[in-house]
Amino acid sequence: MKNFKELIFDQSYINGQWVAGGTDKFKVMNPADGTLVSTVYDGDTLLVNDAIDSAHQALGAWKALSAKERSTIMYRWYELLIKNKEPLAILMTLECGKPLSESRGEVEYGASFIQWFAEEAKRADGDIIPGFTADRRVMVIKQPIGVVGVITPWNFPLAMITRKLGPALAVGCTVVVRPSEETPLSALAMVALADQAGFPAGVINVVVGTHAAETGKILCESPLVSKISFTGSTRVGQILTNQSVSTLKKLSLELGGNAPFIVFEDADIDAAVKGAVAGKFRFSGQTCVCVNRILIHEKIYDTFVERFVQAVSELKVGNGLDVGVNFGPLINKKAIERNEKFVADALSKGGKVLLGGKKQNEYFFLPTVIGDATADMEFAKEEIFGPIAPLFKFKTDEEAIQMANDTIYGLASYFYTNDLTRSWKVSEALEYGIVGINEGIISSESVPFGGVKYSGSGREGSHYGIDDYVELKYICVGNIK
Ligand code: ADP
Repeated sequence: MKNFKELIFDQSYINGQWVAGGTDKFKVMNPADGTLVSTVYDGDTLLVNDAIDSAHQALGAWKALSAKERSTIMYRWYELLIKNKEPLAILMTLECGKPLSESRGEVEYGASFIQWFAEEAKRADGDIIPGFTADRRVMVIKQPIGVVGVITPWNFPLAMITRKLGPALAVGCTVVVRPSEETPLSALAMVALADQAGFPAGVINVVVGTHAAETGKILCESPLVSKISFTGSTRVGQILTNQSVSTLKKLSLELGGNAPFIVFEDADIDAAVKGAVAGKFRFSGQTCVCVNRILIHEKIYDTFVERFVQAVSELKVGNGLDVGVNFGPLINKKAIERNEKFVADALSKGGKVLLGGKKQNEYFFLPTVIGDATADMEFAKEEIFGPIAPLFKFKTDEEAIQMANDTIYGLASYFYTNDLTRSWKVSEALEYGIVGINEGIISSESVPFGGVKYSGSGREGSHYGIDDYVELKYICVGNIK
């Protein structure tokens, strides 16, 4: 295991080499206290074309390896990630503020995609279809889509990258990764471990810098890049889609969410409280599957609210590196202001602050519960991406479903009930890619993660996750007489 300082790098990684690209550097700040973590060479726009060329040149040899050979290298990378869980977690907490226990969990979760797809690599089976005439035979094979441009956000600095690289590398694609400028260190540390694992030069390239829009445009418009895989906001997903028109690029988009969390009158209230706290306040509410709206049956509203406020008040706010802290800072000042605006808007429309409701200082926004929330409040329509839990009341199942679906988004949804019929009916009626029943934590490498509506397209994880990175080829053999 390395010391975390040995895993700090400050250059982009292209064709197996560290490259600065220019002389300018940008700062990586600790969101918990505004201190400088490190500086990194600002090379994304300058280097992205070199990275694309490198990935393109490496493609032929990488896809020509047997699945087992690719799998072996991936497995070594998985083991190195796990072996270095602690330094990777420390680095992650330093650059994104996530409590250390969550960062450790993310390293395990992130690494699990490399392990899972190292296994799936060998199972990307094709098909034999009965010939459509007596003298024809038909086969279907899966081939790698090509060079993949990978653009990722800061909230899962490691796992959002491995979720895409796992399936891409497994089937023989090569990649150009552009991580968020807020969290380049985790990406560089993990690619250093990939280098150690023995990936051939050019298979994984990482460009770091602050020119997201220009770099994204180059990736989208390059004829050498066959696909873009993006996790981030719906707004940027739309920009990338527009920019990809000229090259008719394939896109996987994991975009914003507005997750409802419904508590029916027959629910186990304590379990629902526990699930709501976990689903809402993980990484201070800064994940795309975080609970956005809590809908509670009117008969149990008061009981739920009392227990929920009590549970939320027990969260320990602080620097993610400190022992026992399970609630860290927000990523930056903009995020604090956004949450302040949501609270002010809710109060102006009749909402009540039951807990928190304000920032603690310029880095932390307190865990917040807002009662008497209504559909006209901004946070009912938008993704909060922060630690505000709005509580809404409903009377009937139909009303709860209508409220839950009353959003442009469709990523994660949750509900609590002990009624079997209701659990089927509601699951089927929710317009979401993911439904958690009596469960607030739903992510795993073994499940297909993804959304519908404005939450994007494509699925990450599980055996379905391979599909986004392969092209089907149908081969017809004739004249078999
Ligand atoms: P978030 O709010 O989670 O940061 P964004 O969609 O703004 O979501 O950012 C997600 C990732 O996309 C980040 O790495 C960011 O730098 C990058 N990004 C932002 N704008 C663009 C753009 N116009 N083109 C390509 N990437 C972008």
